[in-house]
Amino acid sequence: MKEPVYYSGSAKFFDTHAHIYARKFDADNTTTEDILQRCRTSGVTSVLIPADNERTSRLAVEMANKYDGFEGVKLYASVGVHPHEAKTYTEDTEKYLRDCLEARREQKIMALGEIGLDYYYDLSERSVQKEVFEKQLEIAKEYDVPFILHERDATGDCLDILRRFYKEGRLRSLPGVCHCCSCSVEAASELVKMGFYIGFDGPLTFKNNKKTPEVALNTPWDRIVIETDSPYLTPEPNRGLTNEPCHVAFVCQKLAEIKVVTIDEAARITYDNGKMLYGVN
Ligand SMILES: [Zn+2]
Repeated sequence: MKEPVYYSGSAKFFDTHAHIYARKFDADNTTTEDILQRCRTSGVTSVLIPADNERTSRLAVEMANKYDGFEGVKLYASVGVHPHEAKTYTEDTEKYLRDCLEARREQKIMALGEIGLDYYYDLSERSVQKEVFEKQLEIAKEYDVPFILHERDATGDCLDILRRFYKEGRLRSLPGVCHCCSCSVEAASELVKMGFYIGFDGPLTFKNNKKTPEVALNTPWDRIVIETDSPYLTPEPNRGLTNEPCHVAFVCQKLAEIKVVTIDEAARITYDNGKMLYGVN
């Protein structure tokens, strides 16, 4: 197996999206302590742990609270139901999400998500995905929290729903982040106009990917955040290995190349943007 490469410079990074509770880590015999120790040595000092259903929401919150500050890494969580899991959304789920958001400050819950539409896998009926997406958009507005948008092969329907909410004044001024952006330059710029941040991860570094660098180039600096989506989508040069937050440096490096700035500058800007997005220090 190939050996991972690690960043060893002095920049500090915010991985705004890493599923560090994933079973993949257990299968690899990687502990949370290992992950956070590698964060420290690779300059990652903040990580947000997103959720995709009720079970992983509980895991994300538990982990963020248990390990916050370990190896000097600040941890935050989100709760929410991913479009894949839309079919599992019940009144009880909604009550659980509301209870979490009521107590969000004490529990380090900084966002609702992942929520959205995924027509690539279609793991839940499209009509159900839309319904559950809209329900959670309403909750985000009600509790005044940002949301983490997951959109794949569903840009048209997704933008239709967001436009409607935007026009009706039912989105916050900074509504959230389009995570792991895979949409077109045009769609991304419309999202930016509605106040969204755009999240870039491993695919930005993939050699055959021409579209995402173009989107990054066209997205204003004050709207860009970096993420890993660990344990998936490992950036080059570590593609093929399990992804961890420590590899976010390579996403930042690529972003710096595209924008023609230093990695330190790109890290500083995206760190500040991550703090603004999730309302943390
Ligand atoms: Zn994710």
